Amino acid sequence: MPTSTNQTFNCSCGKSALGITSRPFARFVCHCTICQSVYSAPFADITLLWAKNVSLPDAHNIQFKKYRRPPALSRGTCGSCGLPLVGFLAVAPLLRMAFIPTQNYPESYVLPPVSMHIFYHSRTADVSDYLPKYSGYLRSQLALTKLVFGAGFSGAADA
Ligand SMILES: [Zn+2]
Ligand SMILES: [Zn+2]
Repeated sequence: MPTSTNQTFNCSCGKSALGITSRPFARFVCHCTICQSVYSAPFADITLLWAKNVSLPDAHNIQFKKYRRPPALSRGTCGSCGLPLVGFLAVAPLLRMAFIPTQNYPESYVLPPVSMHIFYHSRTADVSDYLPKYSGYLRSQLALTKLVFGAGFSGAADA
């Protein structure tokens, strides 16, 4: 195991960076149409952290944009190369989550295993694994909320 959970991410053009001070506590795959277009991929493999464990440099080049679904999710992409770096979502007053795409981590970084697939109804192809798959907007939202409050508050060693 690497000794430090701290990690800095750079986008492909190097103009945007962010840091994390804790290991992500959960990971899921999202098949929603917004992820498909933002990531130009059939689905997005995403890690979950508390927003307090993510730091943005004072002068960053990350542009935040809100999409209609999921509500209040603010997605940050590099203003120069367009790489999705981080998303923030308020799950309760004063409680914000951060979503960081798995592809942003270096290969050596130890990530949690994928817990589930959500927005599976808008998948572009079937996935043949044994993980739970949630279809429908409300079911997907509920599954994600359970993951946040289950994994996010259990054994919060880094909190
Ligand atoms: Zn999505
Ligand atoms: Zn960039």
